[in-house]
Amino acid sequence: MSNFFRKLSALFSYDVGIDLGTANTLVYIKDQGIVLREPSVVAMKNGVPKAVGEEAKRMVGRTPGSVVAIRPLKDGVIANFEVAHNMLRYFIKKATQHRLRTRILIAHPSGITEVERHAIEEAALEAGAVEVRLIEEPMAAAMGVGMPVSEPIGNMIVDIGGGTTEVAIIALQGIVYSQSEKCGGDALDETIVRHMLSAHNLHIGIRTAEDIKIRVGSAHPLQQELEMEVKGRDRGTGLPKTVTVRSEEIREALKDKLDIIVSAVRQTLDHCPPELASDLYDRGITVAGGGALLRGLGDLLHEQTGLPIFIAEDPLSAVAEGTGKFLQENSDLFYED
Ligand code: ADP
Ligand code: MG
Repeated sequence: MSNFFRKLSALFSYDVGIDLGTANTLVYIKDQGIVLREPSVVAMKNGVPKAVGEEAKRMVGRTPGSVVAIRPLKDGVIANFEVAHNMLRYFIKKATQHRLRTRILIAHPSGITEVERHAIEEAALEAGAVEVRLIEEPMAAAMGVGMPVSEPIGNMIVDIGGGTTEVAIIALQGIVYSQSEKCGGDALDETIVRHMLSAHNLHIGIRTAEDIKIRVGSAHPLQQELEMEVKGRDRGTGLPKTVTVRSEEIREALKDKLDIIVSAVRQTLDHCPPELASDLYDRGITVAGGGALLRGLGDLLHEQTGLPIFIAEDPLSAVAEGTGKFLQENSDLFYED
């Protein structure tokens, strides 16, 4: 391409990093930063998308019968291809304001198969990307929180998202060992729904459960325990009912799921090559993803591993920030100019 055309096409193109999460999608534009963060939700009516993102999430559980809210990603992989690429197209268009050429770097869970990786690539191409590259999510998360991933030292990152928890040890720009567990924030929400039903005969929706988790949920005893009023529908009478729940009770309900997350961390530590283990003892573990915001999670992990635990400053942005750093540091990432 001549220099003139190259410059001209650069005017209309963008290099974009995407964190395509089960719960939230974030779009990072190189040299600009995060320009979009929205729930990975599409509201469909009779098979036609009606709303995407924030607007669609508001409809969850409040939608009239004919509107269904779909989360096209499940356990970190694309469960509904058609809806996923429509969603991705919408987010890309919205974030890039309809620029013509986008080259995209997408973060994906480390545990997925070749076929699943291909599906993500295809979805981005269908959504209009001219070229697509992938990056493993733990690598992006580690870069996003500023870990020295290219140095010959062991770094451990835990990313607790909606669908999965990813635990990885990274050194010299590579993933030395990683484990992906299909247990994240969604599993905690579902557990709270079941708990309210069995302990209080109260039917609540998944949004209310998430609200309980965020407002009074915890992984470790709190200095000041919390409580809140929860509105739902009585299982027996079918009538609206209000129940007061306490943080101790919710913590007990969440225990089994939190144990799964703790085990994944401990198993990963067991797999750590001895020459990197001492680094982890010195440098500790960093936790990212929305699940990192659960109260007392750092205390629980510290108690169960003996290692220093750091909660990322902005856990929900870590992966997207990491894709941005990767784009910045690898200017030869894309083939096409
Ligand atoms: P994903 O990468 O799968 O899209 P995110 O990293 O965006 O997931 O995290 C979303 C999860 O974080 C959801 O399950 C959400 O309920 C949870 N979450 C967000 N804020 C909090 C909070 N303050 N306390 C506990 N969980 C939270
Ligand atoms: Mg994520």
